[in-house]
Amino acid sequence: MPISRYYKLGFFPTPLHRLSRLSERYNDYNIFIKRDDQSGLAMGGNKVRKLEYLVQDAIDKGCDSLITYGAAQSNHCRQTAAAAAQTGLKCHLLLHGVQPDEHNGNLLLDKILGANIYWTEENVEELTLQEVFEMVKQSGQKPYMIPLGGSNEIGCLGYVRSILEFKQQLFDEMLDMDYIVFASCSGGTHAGMLVGKALYNLSTEIVGISIAKDEVGRSPLSLQIIDIANKASSLLNLEKRFNSNDVILEGGYDSAGYGVITKQELDALNLLAQQEGIVLDPVYTARAFAGFVDLMDKKRFPKGSNIVFWHTGGTPAIFHYASQLIKLHYLR
Ligand SMILES: *Cc1c(COP(=O)(O)O)cnc(C)c1O
Repeated sequence: MPISRYYKLGFFPTPLHRLSRLSERYNDYNIFIKRDDQSGLAMGGNKVRKLEYLVQDAIDKGCDSLITYGAAQSNHCRQTAAAAAQTGLKCHLLLHGVQPDEHNGNLLLDKILGANIYWTEENVEELTLQEVFEMVKQSGQKPYMIPLGGSNEIGCLGYVRSILEFKQQLFDEMLDMDYIVFASCSGGTHAGMLVGKALYNLSTEIVGISIAKDEVGRSPLSLQIIDIANKASSLLNLEKRFNSNDVILEGGYDSAGYGVITKQELDALNLLAQQEGIVLDPVYTARAFAGFVDLMDKKRFPKGSNIVFWHTGGTPAIFHYASQLIKLHYLR
């Protein structure tokens, strides 16, 4: 599968710019941001790059509908619904849990974008992805299955290509970048960046901040990243194979659990919003940004480093967490 074969869904290159007030505050470092929150597809985010490859693959295989799953506030599901709308495919989303009374944030957008929504705990027996797949097939459609977070060797090609885009921006701006820091969760973004780094000879270190702690019975995130990266590498006919030495994953910030908002996330949200006027999302990017700030406080990066925080989006979710955020705000 060539890297040049994808369905154009987003607006690229996304902006890369310096954070001057934050760089003044953390004056050992020169801090930048890469704005994948501005990538398009119903309010932006990192799933656009993956969907450009997944949607192309669905069309190449003659499919007429997309099926995927995630949390009720999944950014991936929202962007899949938008991609389906834009390309005239149907969209089926299996969301975790029961249907809530209130539809807000990403869930509201899923509805507006016309997705068919199923809930895992609608019945006594948990509804599975395979059952949704069979149901959709029985209705006469030809569904294409997209994994959690769009994270497989095909989706991750979007982040392989992002490194070419990033290198070009560095060249145009005559910049060197020492580190990329970002939120890593289902592994596709991380794996794609690693393959892109190898393919395009990028010297920048790629530092993922783990968002969801590893669970018993599931392969650890670092192994998932290596697996996706190796499959993508062979898909692209590259020699390069990856092992655990290639993966930098900071695991110290995910202990509260996925989607649990604490003071750590609120402080990070407030910091970037009040220093730079940029809004993070509470689940992924605020947690990653909190980790990034902590690593700077601990002098994890050599003095004088150029560091880019890669904003992976998630903006609509902030409205779902409004009351929790405000409660935390007044607790201080
Ligand atoms: C999905 C998502 C991530 C994590 O990307 P993965 O490729 O799943 O690791 C990070 N940030 C946001 C906002 C996301 O929606």
